[in-house]
Amino acid sequence: MCRICKIESSSIARYLGICRDCVLGHPDEAIALALKCHGDSRESFGLPRTPPRAPAGIRCRVCVNECRIRDGESGYCGMRRNIRGKIEGVSSRRAKASWYHDPLPTNCVGDWVCAGGTGSGYPEFAHCRGPETGYRNLAVFSHACSMDCLFCQNWHFKERTHGGRYVTINDLVGDVGARTSCICYFGGDPSPQLPFSIHASRTALAARPDSILRICWETNGTMHPTFLDDIVGLAMVSGGCVKFDLKAWHEPLHIALTGVSNQRILSNFRRAGNRVKERPSPPVLIANTLLVPDYISVDEIRRIAEFIASVDPDIPYSLLAFHPQFCMQDLPLTRQETAAQCVQAARDAGLHRVRIGNAHLLV
Ligand code: SF4
Ligand code: SF4
Repeated sequence: MCRICKIESSSIARYLGICRDCVLGHPDEAIALALKCHGDSRESFGLPRTPPRAPAGIRCRVCVNECRIRDGESGYCGMRRNIRGKIEGVSSRRAKASWYHDPLPTNCVGDWVCAGGTGSGYPEFAHCRGPETGYRNLAVFSHACSMDCLFCQNWHFKERTHGGRYVTINDLVGDVGARTSCICYFGGDPSPQLPFSIHASRTALAARPDSILRICWETNGTMHPTFLDDIVGLAMVSGGCVKFDLKAWHEPLHIALTGVSNQRILSNFRRAGNRVKERPSPPVLIANTLLVPDYISVDEIRRIAEFIASVDPDIPYSLLAFHPQFCMQDLPLTRQETAAQCVQAARDAGLHRVRIGNAHLLV
């Protein structure tokens, strides 16, 4: 049941308890209720309920949360801690992350247009004209995030934000092998640990100046714009890409679902999009949206697609079928019919390259 309009419907996530119409129609009330849900969920993982805002705290500007962290507390991501007036935890030299080698072609959100999945950019950025069979992607999983999506598809990272050991640049670069042709940072989200992944990527590229090593990021786009410039630059020179999650168009809906505003994300996306013509193939920027049933509607997709098209209509856009997870386990799978309508809406908005990802999950 929706806690605002009191309507009973299976399309309302029980944990959130607010329907899409009420999020958009009563944003103040809906956001207050939603942020309480986020806080409760985060507290159960030992994470701050909201970004700390202590006026005299140390400021971190790595991501949109711009935490002000007082002595003894940690930032919203749980990774940076103020210890007696100094920020400790992750840095440009160490991180909380884990990784594995994934044989190419892999189930990567960019595989339908990228060099590793299709050979686009051959011979400068790909080993062959088609999928790079025989090569591997080094998938680097961040144990932190700058947002708090209630539908998180990888929420187990929250159990690893605290505890566990730190990894170093040498640990990561030492695992880049002769058959590694791409490194992809995902998670969680790479944003809170970008100083590390940027440094690691530069080190890895410097160690292999004459062979293909694409650097890719799959991100929610909340980073400080200077870090965005760094990761787009690294993807650009290496043949990699930045895969941006655009989770919702309406800001109240974005806050209700993720705990965070989307204004920085949209401005970062446009900033990255201003560079796509510098290297059209393989595309340096890819957009994705998870089709969360009854929240991310056809109208939501149309508006996101119009925004992407206003940046550049050639930006590939992947609509991802939903799998019920985390605090939205009671929502259904995405319906085939809805997915097809979303694809059509994105094409009607002017986008040239649109596809459904995880199509096997559609019902
Ligand atoms: S990375 Fe983001 S969430 Fe983490 S402490 Fe810095 S500003 Fe806060
Ligand atoms: S990491 Fe990059 S190059 Fe490799 S498969 Fe994914 S998008 Fe393609």
